[in-house]
Amino acid sequence: MKSDIAHLAERVKNGERLALARAITLVESTRPDHRDQAIDLLERLLPFTGKSVRLGITGVPGAGKSTFIEAFGLHLVNQGHRLAVLAVDPSSPRSGGSILGDKTRMEDLSRHPNCFIRPSPSGGGLGGVARRSREAMLVCEAAGFDVVIVETVGVGQSETAVSEMTDMFLLLLVPGGGDELQGIKKGVVELADALLVNKADGDLAQAAQRTCRDYASALHLLTPAHPGWQPPVLKISALEGKGMDETWAAIEAYRKVLGEDGLAQKRSSQALSWMWHAIEDGLKERFRCHPAIAARLGELESQVAQGRQSPAQGAEALLAAFFAQANA
Ligand code: GDP
Repeated sequence: MKSDIAHLAERVKNGERLALARAITLVESTRPDHRDQAIDLLERLLPFTGKSVRLGITGVPGAGKSTFIEAFGLHLVNQGHRLAVLAVDPSSPRSGGSILGDKTRMEDLSRHPNCFIRPSPSGGGLGGVARRSREAMLVCEAAGFDVVIVETVGVGQSETAVSEMTDMFLLLLVPGGGDELQGIKKGVVELADALLVNKADGDLAQAAQRTCRDYASALHLLTPAHPGWQPPVLKISALEGKGMDETWAAIEAYRKVLGEDGLAQKRSSQALSWMWHAIEDGLKERFRCHPAIAARLGELESQVAQGRQSPAQGAEALLAAFFAQANA
């Protein structure tokens, strides 16, 4: 008889929505026994992953991300694509850490049979949330979704994490002002493979034109992340559904420039980087929980905080205590 997990994997591969939701709940769980099952499940699904277009999208709150994902998503599903939307947002105060928890977001899209929307997993720091979103993405791929959008709200480091799990990273801007005025974190523009200036409609149309020009010339000064690809700056209106074709065309053009080999290379280096993140997280977790460390951590932390020991001394003392026990 097949194990429960083998059965679940089969149902996910058949695209059963209930199974998909259950599988994602499993990979999102932080319970150790669930973690073992999740690893088993992912191993079974892994050969069936990798076939989707993986898109990351970011923009400051109010830039129009949900309006854009709704318009762009409907554009895609109406063309026969199957779309999964996931969120990475560890620190949002909304709906207990879930930016997609708000029912009014993406209303039409969320009802479409070819779309699956999953709010951000709650709890845990960025590392954990991002890891769980990446695994949810793999589950969605195995379930046959051919486009996955991972949304981040643009806080702290989540953009880097999302750009490390997607093929292409899109930055949504609004008309007017440079990065600082727009509230964009330093380094985010450099991560973007395409810029979308949203709200290019009505009174904002002219300002959008200027913003496009300004960003296009600013981008020319940056070294492109991928030789042969100059990130385009597109004018769109999510509200009016304008620029959706052009956005998809830019995504296809980027994939063409990358080529199959380039994409495979990008994904393998991402996979390695995720493995190292997992090693770092695992080591830190075990280190913190080790009795030899737990007993001394509080005291050493306060000594370092008060300047009575240097950070290097504190780290060395704890590492020595850890390895003395580990090697005993
Ligand atoms: P998010 O916080 O980035 O998800 O932004 P929302 O999608 O919730 O949009 C924030 C506000 O901008 C809402 O009032 C939207 O109606 C508005 N908005 C979004 N896209 C457009 C657009 O293309 N044009 C205009 N004029 N307003 C837009």
